Amino acid sequence: MNEQDLSFDRKHLWHPYTSMAAPIPAWPVARADGVRIQLADGRWLIDGMSSWWTAIHGYNHPVLNQAATDQIKKMSHVMFGGITHEPAIELGRRLVDLTPPGLDRVFFCDSGSVSVEVAIKMAVQYWYARGLKRKHRLLTVRSGYHGDTFNAMSVCDPVTGMHEIFSEILPEQLFAPAPEIAFHAHWDGAGIAPMEALAKQHKDEIAAIILEPIVQGAGGMRFYHPQYLREIRQICDRYDILLIHDEIATGFGRSGKMFACEHAEISPDIMCVGKALTGGFMSLAATIASTYVAEVISSARDTGGIFMHGPTFMANPLACAVAVASIDLLTNSPWQQRVDDMESGLKQGLEPCRELNTVKDVRVLGAIGVVEMKEPVDVAGLQKAFVEQGVWIRPFGKLIYLMPPYITSKADLAHLTDAMVSIVRRQQ
Ligand SMILES: *Cc1c(COP(=O)(O)O)cnc(C)c1O
Repeated sequence: MNEQDLSFDRKHLWHPYTSMAAPIPAWPVARADGVRIQLADGRWLIDGMSSWWTAIHGYNHPVLNQAATDQIKKMSHVMFGGITHEPAIELGRRLVDLTPPGLDRVFFCDSGSVSVEVAIKMAVQYWYARGLKRKHRLLTVRSGYHGDTFNAMSVCDPVTGMHEIFSEILPEQLFAPAPEIAFHAHWDGAGIAPMEALAKQHKDEIAAIILEPIVQGAGGMRFYHPQYLREIRQICDRYDILLIHDEIATGFGRSGKMFACEHAEISPDIMCVGKALTGGFMSLAATIASTYVAEVISSARDTGGIFMHGPTFMANPLACAVAVASIDLLTNSPWQQRVDDMESGLKQGLEPCRELNTVKDVRVLGAIGVVEMKEPVDVAGLQKAFVEQGVWIRPFGKLIYLMPPYITSKADLAHLTDAMVSIVRRQQ
């Protein structure tokens, strides 16, 4: 890649959440292997991001590569309408097995945002089938993030999701305050009342409560108390509301459990998974419903019982084959021990940040380590400083955080946390 390439990129290619007029610099990457990303100039960086929650086994993994090449020789894609295939069936089996009890009906889709749309549509069709057409709104909590398509966006935090830009066209949903009580705090029952009040008051119009279990990701990297999630389950049961868990970021071990809702030992009625589903290989997501939800949707007479969704690339065989390999790799690995060890490493490594007067909070759960600053950081400047320290860490807003691949060694993890501490210290 030369200067011309980079100038083409700057001028013609949109990057995530970036201005076309004044984009912050994009670092040219040549390849990635294991837990390292190589820049075009030859430097290797230790990856602290897992490419946004996805690359849990690191990059260029021989087992995932093999699964992809084996599948390519058979077929990379074939339509799912009226056809089925082994990769979809094998992945479906694993998802039914792995997800919490009751979640048995799998809908494959292309991306996390689409899986959220599908979940919302399932909830709406469920109430339609029961003759309760008024129940089509959603109740959620602030500081959430559920994706960038319109319905997903309508349940993102109204402030960080910039709802005012789209206020004329976004469906208006109901928002309770963000769960305030931290994961490790003592549960005192406070904080759930506003959610209960909203559910009670609007139960005749609410189709579902949707939220990220335990870990609020892109909306603020916050970890909340498992009892809060249990109470939400009870509220849903009490007021006849479905519960949708968005496990797109948390699924497949990241929070220290296979799925974050296991911290609360509850099951939702509908669950969204994505991101780490293919181990970061390519985009694939799924929406998994309980048998009961699926049966009610399918019982509607006037719709012929069909569920109204069917993406062109539904259950793409290549993506499914890689996902099967990724899940087997995960379940046959000591992932629990690895994530627990990473939790200790992150806690110990990031602790020195707590003393710094620019830092508001340091928190760790599973393989996620977060330093929340008091003020928003200079993203471009920090990225450059991290690259100079040999690590890839991309902050946003007031948050500097790590979620490295599970195969990260103790030494590499220490390198990541040391770089964090040294760069945060410079923010004084
Ligand atoms: C990333 C994310 C999404 C959106 O997934 P995409 O694949 O980017 O569409 C939805 N919900 C959560 C919790 C996420 O972290």
